[in-house]
Amino acid sequence: MADNRCDVVVLGGGSGGYATALRAAELGKSVVLVEKDKVGGTCLHRGCIPTKALLHAGEIADQARESAAFGVKTTFEGIDMPGVHKYKDSVIAKNHKGLTGLIKGRGIQVVEGEGRLTGPRTVQVGADTYTGTNLVLATGSYSRTLPGLDLDGDRAIASEHALQLDRVPATAIVLGGGVIGCEFASAWTSFGSRVTIVEALPHLVPLEDEASSKLLERAFRGRGIGFKLGARVERAEPSDDGVRVHLEGGETLDAELLLVAVGRGPVTAGLGYEEQGVRVERGFVAVDEYCRTSAEGVYAVGDLVTTGNGAHPQLAHVGFAEGILVAEHLAGLPAVPIDYVGVPRITYSHPEVASVGYTQAQAADKYGPEMITTVTYDLSGNGRSAILNTKGAVKVIAAKDGPILGIHIVGDRVSELIAEAQLIYNWEALPAEVARLIHPHPTQSEAIGEAHLLLAGKPLHVHE
Ligand code: NAD
Repeated sequence: MADNRCDVVVLGGGSGGYATALRAAELGKSVVLVEKDKVGGTCLHRGCIPTKALLHAGEIADQARESAAFGVKTTFEGIDMPGVHKYKDSVIAKNHKGLTGLIKGRGIQVVEGEGRLTGPRTVQVGADTYTGTNLVLATGSYSRTLPGLDLDGDRAIASEHALQLDRVPATAIVLGGGVIGCEFASAWTSFGSRVTIVEALPHLVPLEDEASSKLLERAFRGRGIGFKLGARVERAEPSDDGVRVHLEGGETLDAELLLVAVGRGPVTAGLGYEEQGVRVERGFVAVDEYCRTSAEGVYAVGDLVTTGNGAHPQLAHVGFAEGILVAEHLAGLPAVPIDYVGVPRITYSHPEVASVGYTQAQAADKYGPEMITTVTYDLSGNGRSAILNTKGAVKVIAAKDGPILGIHIVGDRVSELIAEAQLIYNWEALPAEVARLIHPHPTQSEAIGEAHLLLAGKPLHVHE
């Protein structure tokens, strides 16, 4: 049994954990990174990257089917699932190789194995212990299910299983119309499945501005994606040829399989956190604005964290930002707490939904309805969107005579536009300041420029 000492021990090598390790090493700290599986975590191996690869394969399938509308003759023969996996896995492998090289290049010691806290800042892995001047918890999250609903990986599956599926399901029920539910419903529909989403709240992607949800619902309807809103799943059971889902009120739905996407829970149980004085609330590790836990010298970053007001998003880029923040804070550099409202959010469905800042309802709540103003610029006025044959809109919410409070965009490829939107929001730009900036033509980014021209009272491509 060896007792190893270093400046920083990081437990968990996902987005939050490896970002902490990379930045801490860059700042001259000796770092041990403990990971039981592969560095890169959920995002790289079971989340963001593989899902977006599936969605891209789906986009190609849609384009092949629809190519005649663009004067191009193709024949869509079908989806070769092993081929899709080969493509997806090659993207993961490339990124994993790059990340492994980065970690090695910064002199970080990676310890493979399952870690558990056995001292205030000590992690035990097998027979060895690793003690840091600081400890960072970054053990991530898992796919939740409903009580009594077993994820057997065959008929009732979570997103991890869905990413490994060796076939295109003929029919699927998606439980939960949040980000994961809408992304898989979109990808499977592109692959040729018939999908029905069941969402307990009144809208798909219910955390988004209602106008964005409605645009997505209209587009999904047009694609033949079924959805039941305000409908709660009670239970599910295997049927002769798949699964039967019972909704509250007695209605039943049948399909080949059920994808459960009702949120992700924190991985904190059984790891010795509370025993070492780390406060855990409803399973999440409670942190302050510098990601400090209640235990001296112990931080936590990523999906397992709660900031106490329910506003902490489980997103890879939040993990990256928290990792950098923590490394700089513990190195004694001036660190600026994260404004979680200013974190861009994207659902990569067809069409995409992207946003930053407050929704109209939140802004009205915070500032008073009479103190805000909103404009919507329809993508039908945008040349590039017409070329791409996509519909949607840019909605901007501003304080009356004040800065931008929120930007909400729907349409294919708009994920790339949210980077500009987040600068506008986070720099507290005024509509007139953005209206002065020239957007390149023809691009979809012009829709952001046009929305701000409209807000500044000088609309260009807008019908009176
Ligand atoms: P979510 O919280 O976004 O959505 C879950 C949905 O399930 C909710 O809308 C909820 O109302 C619904 N629901 C819960 N119980 C239900 C029931 N009994 N019947 C019907 N509906 C029910 O969670 P998710 O989609 O599983 O995603 C998990 C986390 O991962 C989220 O925080 C998400 O932001 C993150 N994520 C992000 C991305 C991305 O950024 N593109 C992609 C995937 C996941």
